[in-house]
Amino acid sequence: MRKFKTESKKLLDLMINSIYTNREIFLRELISNASDAVDKLYFKSLTDTSVQLTKDQLGIDVSFDKDARTITVSDNGIGMTQEDLDRNLGTIAHSDSMAFKQENAEQQGDDVDIIGQFGVGFYSAFMVAKSVRVVSKAYGEEQAWAWESDGVEGYTIEAAERETNGTDVILTLKDNTEEENYDQFLSEYGLKDLIKRYSNYVRYPVRMEVEKSRQKPKPEDAGDDYKPEYEQYTEVETINSMVPIWKRGKSDVKQEEYNEFYKQTFHDFTDPAATFGIHAEGALSYDALLFIPGRAPYDLYSKDYKKGLELYGSNVLIMEKCEDLLPDHYNFVRGVVDSQDLTLNISRETLQQNNQLRAIARKVEKKITSELKKMLKNDRAGYEKFFENFGRGLEYGIYTSYGMLKDELAELLLFYSAKEQKLVTLDEYLEAMPANQKSIYYAAGDSIDRLAKLPIVNTVLGRGYDVLLCTKDVDEFCFQSMMNYGPEPEKDAEGKDIEGTGPKDLKNVASGVLDFATEDEKKEAEAAEKDNEALLKAMKEHLGDVITKVAVSTRLTDAPSAVTTEGPVSLEMERLMSQMPE
Ligand code: ADP
Ligand code: MG
Repeated sequence: MRKFKTESKKLLDLMINSIYTNREIFLRELISNASDAVDKLYFKSLTDTSVQLTKDQLGIDVSFDKDARTITVSDNGIGMTQEDLDRNLGTIAHSDSMAFKQENAEQQGDDVDIIGQFGVGFYSAFMVAKSVRVVSKAYGEEQAWAWESDGVEGYTIEAAERETNGTDVILTLKDNTEEENYDQFLSEYGLKDLIKRYSNYVRYPVRMEVEKSRQKPKPEDAGDDYKPEYEQYTEVETINSMVPIWKRGKSDVKQEEYNEFYKQTFHDFTDPAATFGIHAEGALSYDALLFIPGRAPYDLYSKDYKKGLELYGSNVLIMEKCEDLLPDHYNFVRGVVDSQDLTLNISRETLQQNNQLRAIARKVEKKITSELKKMLKNDRAGYEKFFENFGRGLEYGIYTSYGMLKDELAELLLFYSAKEQKLVTLDEYLEAMPANQKSIYYAAGDSIDRLAKLPIVNTVLGRGYDVLLCTKDVDEFCFQSMMNYGPEPEKDAEGKDIEGTGPKDLKNVASGVLDFATEDEKKEAEAAEKDNEALLKAMKEHLGDVITKVAVSTRLTDAPSAVTTEGPVSLEMERLMSQMPE
């Protein structure tokens, strides 16, 4: 028996027990190796005319034997010689695939896509297997060899039989323990699920023999009471879909296909509201396919909700929810990012370098913003639905960034216009403003109906100014953090701001800071206040500490009196804040 070197032994133990957080990735690793082996042979056929081979002959087969407790992953790739087995599987952290990738970096182009790089993936098999046997015949060799190990002491290599070039990796699964049920992997369903989940876009077919059922042909002499009979049969089926939908040109994918992909991948039953992609080339090449869901997931506003995009590296799933790819205010977006250029860490569960992710995330964010703007412009009804589902998150984004995200998000917001009696954007509000209007007015409360009846709202409307009626809890906080909205001021010849241009303040009509009374009206009010001094004083005395003062107002039209607050915090906001947890 050949011994693992001591370091190797320690490393192996480390590998098996602590690098991976998830046992089930063993199949992803073995299929990735098989795909690499097939890719290498294919590459050889491109560069060596003596290799007669076409791409459709190449593939990977997965099978299992419930009684023997084995899972076999076979490929008809490049195979391994006796020395290869010794070097590649006897030395932990030795990756021939990485060397291959580096040596052939220039020639391989898009046609070959090697996944391996760390020389540890193979050993993940020992997370689920008590022993592993690898039978391999290198392309062009006569003799096959078998490598075998229990993953503890060492391994053996001996001559073996295999008809054609390629490799079989045969795992004998561990016995079930109280914590772990290894039998879950010994089923058609279990294996299919893993292949679909992790290796769906491996570029060679991953096949499995699957059980099917069909109706037997009706016998000629069947009587009237004939009942159809069924029989079981098996068929070899390709489980993975190989070409990722995001790698196909937008023009040859139908929207229904995108919808199907979306619903299957993200477990939604409604079609997405919007589908769009990014194709980036250069130092960091990647593809992204993004969706805006047609409805809000039930847990979107709960703390259990996890944002993130699926992340693929070289066609293999790395992370199901990569949070860093999405900003919080777009946490509802679903999708996939795929790149060959990511520097993954050793478990291939995370990335080594965050600036790659940051660069992608920035582009993703920009793309989402521009798509939403497009939707707002071209599909108003669709956009209003979107905003009903996810608008709160956008406003929350402005609020929690202390207004920093205003430039990006404010033009995407919709509010109910008291004048137009429909949803308007802030730009539409500005557009419709009479020349003498100085601010954007809003009122906050819990229903449109009630807000529309407020005396102060009607006063403002009476002046010809529109009022935005805000019913979401976050509206007022969002406006407070924005402070104002509108294009930068125009400059005169001397470079000074032209009066009346520039952003308009956002003013809560209930906050008592409104001032659009004319000089005459103010004088009139002052006079009235003087004339009625005794009355006002008596009212204040009667109401006591419940109020701070009684005054004559220029802000009412029909209503005789109104209760208001002073300062920027409205009654509505006070109510909300008093409900917030400490
Ligand atoms: P990596 O894939 O990162 O190189 P692995 O531990 O998964 O590391 O595999 C180690 C090496 O073993 C590979 O680089 C490859 O040379 C060899 N190998 C593994 N599986 C196969 C296979 N099915 N066919 C041919 N070579 C293989
Ligand atoms: Mg590997």
